[in-house]
Amino acid sequence: MRKKIKWVQVLRFLVQLGFLCAMAFAGFNTKIASDWLFPTILLAGVFFCGWVCPLGAAQDWMSFLGRLLKLPRFRVPQGLQRYLQLCRYAFYALLTMEITFSLLKGPYNFSKLVHGELLTLASGIIVLFLLLGLFIDRPFCNYFCTGGARQGLFSVLRIVGIRRRTEHCGGCGTCSKKCPMNIDVANSEFVRHPNCIGCMTCVSACPKKCLSFSLMPKLKAAGKKK
Ligand code: SF4
Ligand code: SF4
Ligand code: SF4
Repeated sequence: MRKKIKWVQVLRFLVQLGFLCAMAFAGFNTKIASDWLFPTILLAGVFFCGWVCPLGAAQDWMSFLGRLLKLPRFRVPQGLQRYLQLCRYAFYALLTMEITFSLLKGPYNFSKLVHGELLTLASGIIVLFLLLGLFIDRPFCNYFCTGGARQGLFSVLRIVGIRRRTEHCGGCGTCSKKCPMNIDVANSEFVRHPNCIGCMTCVSACPKKCLSFSLMPKLKAAGKKK
C-alpha cells in the first residue's frame, strides 16, 4: 500500500529548511524568531522547537537518515523517561546558577564562560548528540537542551494542546511511538506536556484521525456554559 504523504510534515520540513538557509546565507539569527514566538508558548506551546530551531531540525534529519539506513532505533521506556527528561531542567538550573555566580564575580568570568571552554565543550557535545540522533529521536532536545527547558517551563501555562478523542481511539500506540519527545500521547487525554514541541507528528501519524489541536477541555466547557 502506498504511504500517504503527511502534508503537515512536508510543510514543517520546508519551514525548518527555510530557517536553516536564512541562518546560513543571510546571517539570520534564530534568537529573533525565538523571541517573536515566545508569546505563542503561553498559547500553544513551544513551536520554535518543532518548526524553527536548526538544531532540532538537524536531529529530525539525522533520525530520518537513521531510518533510511535501517539502523536500529532505541526509545527510552516511559518509566525511565519520566526521570531522564528532568536532566535538561537540571542543566538549566545549573547553567542559571553558574551564570549568576560568574556575573557576581565580574564580567571577565562571564565572557570566559560564554566564549571559552563552554562553547568548545558545547560544540563537541552537539556533534555527539547529532550522531546519537541516528538511533534515538531528538536526544539533545529530550535530555540536554537548556533553551528547550526554559521554553518548556513557560509552556506549562499553555491553553491549547493536543486532544485525543478517546471514543475514536483504537489504542494502537502509534502516536506515542512516533513522538520525537517520547511523550505518552496514547495514554493522555490532553497533551500539555512541557516537552511537547508542537511538531504535529502524533497528529499526522494517528490512523484513526482522533488527535487534534484543541482548547483545554475545562476552558471549552466553560465557554459552552456561558
Ligand atoms: S530543545 Fe533546544 S535544540 Fe531542541 S529544538 Fe528546542 S531549542 Fe532547539
Ligand atoms: S505530543 Fe505530538 S506534537 Fe507534541 S511533541 Fe509529541 S508528536 Fe510532537
Ligand atoms: S495513534 Fe491514534 S488510534 Fe492509535 S493510540 Fe494514538 S490516538 Fe489512539
